[in-house]
Amino acid sequence: MAVVGWIGLGNMGGFMSANLAKAGHDVRGFDLNEGAVAAAEAKGVKPAKSIEEAVQGADVVFTMLPKGEHAKAVYLGEDGVLAHAGTSTLLVDSSTIDIASAQELHDAAAAAGFRFVDAPVSGGVSGAEAGTLTFMVGGEDSAVRDATTYIGPMSANIIPTGGATTGQAAKICNNLMLFINLASTAEGAVLADRLGLDKQVFWDIASVSSGDSWALRTWYPVPGVVPTAASNNGFAPTFTAELANKDIGLAISAAEDTGTPLEIGRHVQQLFQKLIDAGESGKDCSMIIKVVDGSLDPSTRD
Ligand code: NAD
Repeated sequence: MAVVGWIGLGNMGGFMSANLAKAGHDVRGFDLNEGAVAAAEAKGVKPAKSIEEAVQGADVVFTMLPKGEHAKAVYLGEDGVLAHAGTSTLLVDSSTIDIASAQELHDAAAAAGFRFVDAPVSGGVSGAEAGTLTFMVGGEDSAVRDATTYIGPMSANIIPTGGATTGQAAKICNNLMLFINLASTAEGAVLADRLGLDKQVFWDIASVSSGDSWALRTWYPVPGVVPTAASNNGFAPTFTAELANKDIGLAISAAEDTGTPLEIGRHVQQLFQKLIDAGESGKDCSMIIKVVDGSLDPSTRD
């Protein structure tokens, strides 16, 4: 049994930390949002009142935070992880963040005597709850190996990606593809409906045909087809439009840095932007179907 400090108990971190607790680890969780802490406590995570309380004496610290700025504040801030953890504590950032921030965290951790890996995940809230996430882990070999020993109860796949920040690089490219697939799924679903196809019949065909994707099977944006979809729930967030927009923005900025054309990705970013401009940034990203079908705002319909 290990002592685990966990910072960030939101949609993903709540379930992930609970799976470590279920596996018998002593998990101490902190979040700025008291509701998130209470929900994690109900799933077996011990509530901590500060980062300091969560990380003291921990064998490993996981962070699952929205963006690079949050991860930097949590690791590098005066009351942060580097200030309060012991240097034998292994640090694992599972947030999806920009490569420059991830490199900054690797450098600052190394300079303070810590081992740090970037270990973003794929699999959504349903994968977080089921303990079937894919982890992509970048960093120095022995740190990656040690991180793997803790990640097991949260994951179905653990894939070392290479040196520092390569986990984030893999995650950014994966999510570019995910959100393009989500947009194509929304377009296919709306067109199928307008051509008179039954929603279930069309999904049954696409899910065993060449239109298949993870987005189709997990996030189908039409209600009453896929149990894990936010569309069943008025688009209550599993992955907010704001975070989806952040991820596709990370891909666009990495593409600019590498001279890579990203025409489809840029177009999909505009769909998320329309959702955000309509005041729906906190809703699930699969709500872009409402941009496609024009029901969000009549001016969005071509
Ligand atoms: P979320 O917004 O639900 O959770 C983030 C949590 O971090 C919130 O509870 C927030 O209060 C907390 N937080 C922010 N700043 C903090 C601080 N300084 N100290 C303590 N807590 C702080 O987000 P999420 O959906 O759980 O996603 C987390 C990360 O995982 C993001 O980078 C996201 O892109 C990535 N991700 C999300 C999904 C998904 O399906 N939701 C899937 C894979 C990866």
